[in-house]
Amino acid sequence: MSISPVSSASSVIGHAASWYAATANPAPERPALEGEVTCDVCVVGAGFTGISAALHLAERGLSVVVLEASRVGFGASGRNGGQIVNSYSRDLDVIEAKYGLDTARALGDMAFEGNRIIRERIDQYAIDCDLKDGNLFAACNARQLEGLREHQALWERYGYHELELLEGEAVKREVGSERYTGALVDHGGGHLHPLNLVLGQAAALESLGGRILEGSPVTGLDHGEPVRVHTARGSVRAERVVMAGNAYLKGVLPEIEGKSMPCGTQIITTEPLGEERARSLLPNGLAVEDCNYLLDYYRLTRDNRLLYGGGVNYGDDDPGDIEAVIRPKLARTFPELADVRVDYAWSGTFLMTLSRLPQFGVINGNVYYAQGYSGHGVTCTHLAGKLIAEVMHGQDERFDAFAGLPHLPFPGGRLLRVPLSALGAWYYATRDKLGL
Ligand SMILES: Cc1cc2nc3c(=O)[nH]c(=O)nc-3n(C[C@H](O)[C@H](O)[C@H](O)COP(=O)(O)OP(=O)(O)OC[C@H]3O[C@@H](n4cnc5c(N)ncnc54)[C@H](O)[C@@H]3O)c2cc1C
Repeated sequence: MSISPVSSASSVIGHAASWYAATANPAPERPALEGEVTCDVCVVGAGFTGISAALHLAERGLSVVVLEASRVGFGASGRNGGQIVNSYSRDLDVIEAKYGLDTARALGDMAFEGNRIIRERIDQYAIDCDLKDGNLFAACNARQLEGLREHQALWERYGYHELELLEGEAVKREVGSERYTGALVDHGGGHLHPLNLVLGQAAALESLGGRILEGSPVTGLDHGEPVRVHTARGSVRAERVVMAGNAYLKGVLPEIEGKSMPCGTQIITTEPLGEERARSLLPNGLAVEDCNYLLDYYRLTRDNRLLYGGGVNYGDDDPGDIEAVIRPKLARTFPELADVRVDYAWSGTFLMTLSRLPQFGVINGNVYYAQGYSGHGVTCTHLAGKLIAEVMHGQDERFDAFAGLPHLPFPGGRLLRVPLSALGAWYYATRDKLGL
């Protein structure tokens, strides 16, 4: 790899003002791209997808340059709920029904692998990111509890036996809330500090010779062999490119943009609650997400704060007052926290597809992309990175199982997709409220 000099100072936008940013492990501020750089693979975007792919590729001996518009972990990867949720945003029964058993089997064989990759990375590179085992799905009504029973049977059919169903009062063993009629504990799931996970993997990449350039928004690509990837102050010539900008990419890959929609979701973090109060909410420290269409998700942090997220706004407009949106949700789950102080509030954008399955593919034979995890991306992004490294080494079967999934544009096109999706969400949220 030949690398020309890069600027020593960069003026980049920092991370969102989250609890994660406030507790991030030390990380260097990387320089911006200047001039021309040549490498085997250029990765656009330093979130989980981009850094996971870059690390797998560097481990296989390729020279890799990552271009990040802002800082490593600036996007959803550095600000999410931190929940290690297995499988996909649309589960395997829907995949069976819509795309057939062969596709379901292929995706089912990989549904728990992203979780394993994360744990391998943490062990292999000694990443300090507060990994904790166990998460649960909480049912708010009888219909959702029935859904959890089916969910357990489904995952067991795919060889996963880490689930435990709790009904009625038994839920209180794990969650000190009156809201739930049942819960499905995934003892093999978990949660962690996502920003520290991505920062740790970025450091691992650099230890293998990979290069990360921050404050370097990509403005366009010249397709060809090699591909030329442009920023305002330089360009990268690469044999292959990985586009990993997800919801933040906007306009750089028009070929696929119409088949996904950016969505905002918000998180607040309370003041430290103290060990005893924190344990009264979540006695064994599991992460929780409920089964509503517009779901609430929450967990404790290592300093005993409650980190509580929820809500979706279609399109990427942030609500002005995040606390006003999330606090009522928190108070519905834990009324005793109605007056608790909120120390952090932030928003992030994820990318939704119409099928709610991720969108993988290749353009012109050498520009790969993986995006659109539809709200459940912590594990699947790590799988995506591995599959991109595989396909670049001629092992295309597993990547192609995803790339073969059909993706349709959102109804209403760019202009009407937001109001139409909001209308659909309102319908499903109303059904949830009525317990239908
Ligand atoms: C608030 C929130 C909570 C969530 N909670 C969970 C959860 O608990 N569990 C779960 O499984 N999933 C969760 N998700 C989803 C999950 O975080 C995402 O699916 C995942 O992080 C996507 O990773 P990514 O690397 O593909 O994209 P991102 O992490 O968004 O990274 C994209 C990166 O590309 C960069 N970029 C974009 N355009 C350019 C460009 N032109 N040039 C250079 N760089 C560019 C961006 O700056 C960004 O750093 C949540 C998402 C949000 C927003």
